[in-house]
Amino acid sequence: MSDDSISTLYCANHPDRETMLRCNRCDKPICYQCAVRTPVGYRCKECVRGQQAVYFNANRFDLVIAAAIGVLLGDVLGALAYAFLGAFGWFSFLGAILIGPAVGGIIAEAIRRGVGKRRARYLKWIAAGACVVGILLGGLLLYAGLPLLAGAPLRGVIGVLPAIVTRLDVLLLAALAASTIYARLV
Ligand SMILES: [Zn+2]
Ligand SMILES: [Zn+2]
Repeated sequence: MSDDSISTLYCANHPDRETMLRCNRCDKPICYQCAVRTPVGYRCKECVRGQQAVYFNANRFDLVIAAAIGVLLGDVLGALAYAFLGAFGWFSFLGAILIGPAVGGIIAEAIRRGVGKRRARYLKWIAAGACVVGILLGGLLLYAGLPLLAGAPLRGVIGVLPAIVTRLDVLLLAALAASTIYARLV
């Protein structure tokens, strides 16, 4: 080992590159391009990835659960929002500002429990996206429910799209709910 420290080091991934750096975890020589700067010093990419794998302990199925909970709860709460929020005229926006974060909090908590509080790299993105999809879907089912059942799905869906995307109060609620979910989940 002492020989190693005085002889020239070459990067483990780039045998033609001389380097002075070693990963401070596995001691592998690494060049500046291969080194990742961490709060505890330079490490090789393999070691950094290994630590992230320990930190992000959720499996793929957890992401499916998170998406399903987000869509389902978003669906129900979104349908309620489309049905009742508009009844208050301009106060609907005030209602959206008050209710949006609460809706997001409910969904975030349900997802956190649903995945057993495990962490995943894209969990908060998927959860926030699923919530928005769910809320829009809630409006779709609310307005197009009957045409869908009557067997004219496409016409029914296209017919109600304007009613869904022009409801700025509900869209505001969806945005606030999604940002709350993003902030609450790891
Ligand atoms: Zn290493
Ligand atoms: Zn290298």
